[in-house]
Amino acid sequence: MDLQGKVIAITGGGQGLGRAMALDLAAKGAKLALIDLNEEQLQETVKLIEEAGSQARYYMANVAVEEAVEGVFKQIVSDFNALDGLVNNAGITRDGLFIKAKDGQVLAKMTLQQWQQVIDVNLTGVFLCAREAAAQMIELGSKGVIINISSISRSGNMGQTNYTAAKSGVAAMAVTWAKELSRYGIRVAAVAPGFIETAMTAGMKPEALEKVCAGIPMRRLGVPAEIAHSVRYILENDYFTGRVIECDGGLRI
Ligand code: NAP
Repeated sequence: MDLQGKVIAITGGGQGLGRAMALDLAAKGAKLALIDLNEEQLQETVKLIEEAGSQARYYMANVAVEEAVEGVFKQIVSDFNALDGLVNNAGITRDGLFIKAKDGQVLAKMTLQQWQQVIDVNLTGVFLCAREAAAQMIELGSKGVIINISSISRSGNMGQTNYTAAKSGVAAMAVTWAKELSRYGIRVAAVAPGFIETAMTAGMKPEALEKVCAGIPMRRLGVPAEIAHSVRYILENDYFTGRVIECDGGLRI
């Protein structure tokens, strides 16, 4: 795909990895439709894109709410008259041990709320946005691309029962959708980032971050532009579908 003039939607496009992707794609001439909950951050991202000489619009919507997602994708197509790509990037963490116990006594359990919040945004949100984007692409006759942002945690990580369930789910759904949607000319793939410098990792305890860095063969966190580069590779490479790019400095958890 030649990105010049293409319309790409990014969920969680207000900050962090989503903003880095938006700026990277704008530099290649793409127009951006940014979906997020944080209006201030969205306005700032739109301003940065316009300063870089491209176009962007923002949409306030919770990716976990069906009617909101249906409405947003209809609105994007009505505003831009096209939809060529979607990056399912919005995500949250609500970490905690599955069971915390000491001396045979259970002290705490992961709550159903912790589980459900992450599943709603990181798994159901991806399902809803991809479904609506694919439906719009098919009706527009657009040979679009859908990218799910998974995580290195998808293969299992302490304290992240909810997050790992969602992130392995979105990687598997990318493979399923690639098989189902190729008949319409739509490609689907995923990116599984390692530990990247964003608000999400800034929230980790410094000792935990130091320990993580020591285990990364590259001996540093990734930067958002490196994940944006992986996303752009998938968009641009017309033979890439049904696979997951692991961009994690060589770390295995
Ligand atoms: P971030 O800085 O927290 O940004 C996520 C964005 O998504 C925020 O703007 C957030 O808005 C928005 N968002 C959250 N819930 C939403 C919802 N229900 N509907 C719409 N927007 C919502 O996160 P990030 O580090 O850039 O991560 C982006 C993606 O990469 C996530 O899927 C994450 O799991 C994945 N990932 C990150 C890393 C990493 O090291 N950073 C590693 C692997 C995978 P609010 O601020 O208002 O909540």
